[in-house]
Amino acid sequence: MPIDPEFPRNHQVFGRHNHADGKHYHFVWGPGSPSDASSSGEVRAAYAARNEELVPVGVHGTMVAVDWDSCIADGACIQACPVSVFQWYRTENDVPAVDMVNATSYGNGSTGKEERLDSTDKSDPIREHECIWCMACVTVCPPKAVKVDQSNLEFHQRETFQQQ
Ligand code: SF4
Repeated sequence: MPIDPEFPRNHQVFGRHNHADGKHYHFVWGPGSPSDASSSGEVRAAYAARNEELVPVGVHGTMVAVDWDSCIADGACIQACPVSVFQWYRTENDVPAVDMVNATSYGNGSTGKEERLDSTDKSDPIREHECIWCMACVTVCPPKAVKVDQSNLEFHQRETFQQQ
């Protein structure tokens, strides 16, 4: 199922993912819901191999948003992005996806399409702030898990204000 294009209106922020530069972060929106990831045999098998529960994890990012419940770790967005907005989160921090809420990342994970750890990995918009709005990632994602909308900056700013 594609990302809900209206996720900032239909979902709530339940955490944020900080960049270790101390300046940047992206919000995490939920609740998540079972979607393409949970219907993919490859993804289910990867979770089973890790003995991890496949649970809804929501949307990471606001202007550059990836629905982690739809993401099947294809990597097309990672390959398409000319400015390396995304990284495979597990290649920096190999923990269950639910533990990436309120986590901090350095952004030193892999940005190679085939370098995911396995099919439980997710494309993380750790450098959301560097997006140049080319839309390449949106068009290549097989399950349409990526939404890029510069105007969603207002939601990012609203949440930032409310958390101060
Ligand atoms: S819109 Fe372009 S620059 Fe922005 S994250 Fe997608 S591919 Fe990267």
